[in-house]
Amino acid sequence: MFYRRAPYWLFLLLPMLTSAALGDEYAQARQRLVEDIQQDVRDTSLYLDKVALDPRVMTAIATVPRHEFVPAAQRHRAYANRPLPIGHGQTISQPYIVALMSDLIKPRAGDRVLEIGTGSGYQAAILAELTDAVYSIEIIEALGKQAAERLPGLGFDNITLRIGDGYYGWKEHAPFDAIVVTAAASHVPPPLVAQLKPGGRMVIPVGSRFLTQQLVLIEKQADGQLITRQILPVKFVPLTGEHN
Ligand code: SAM
Repeated sequence: MFYRRAPYWLFLLLPMLTSAALGDEYAQARQRLVEDIQQDVRDTSLYLDKVALDPRVMTAIATVPRHEFVPAAQRHRAYANRPLPIGHGQTISQPYIVALMSDLIKPRAGDRVLEIGTGSGYQAAILAELTDAVYSIEIIEALGKQAAERLPGLGFDNITLRIGDGYYGWKEHAPFDAIVVTAAASHVPPPLVAQLKPGGRMVIPVGSRFLTQQLVLIEKQADGQLITRQILPVKFVPLTGEHN
């Protein structure tokens, strides 16, 4: 029988080879995802006014293990360029949208970024690769707790999480260089505008619940004036809470 003849070291090596092969499989899948996103960016270049996103953002997409952020039943789809269910009626956003939102805020080392809608924690992890400090708020307790367990285990120690209504932002850590809202709001929450630094950027889907919304980029000028630009139509789950 094979197992009697095979040297003992083969049995030690096999699990290592299998996990290396799996790791590689995910790395290749992530690389294909990067290429899919690059194609989507080219296809939507008329909206975006550019044909490629910040290479640092694409490196983050190629690095962060999205399969660790989806339920086991969705793992085989983790590197499809589409949103996936994460339970509680919520989704992990489409990777193209995650990359685009990350690009639009022009993240830099040293920045302090606020995310509204932690969900799985994936967008927070991408932002954490690009900036020094990420603060993220989730309204659904179970999702917030799951993300709080998941992120440190994956080595993300620059993300601070809180359960609560993100409409009001996070005054204790304000002002923020950038704010990313990952659920659709009927209007831009004034507390978030107040917590954005002069020179800061906010990206937020604005529009009706469950219909197509507009992804909006807001830039706060040095004098506090806001410049708003509609980027492209998107479809997000709604921002919930008493104000929406
Ligand atoms: N960023 C998430 C990720 O990477 O998995 C995906 C976000 S999912 C599209 C939107 C999330 O926003 C949901 O988890 C939802 O519970 C959360 N949410 C909705 N309204 C909220 C609010 N008022 N404050 C904080 N989170 C909210």
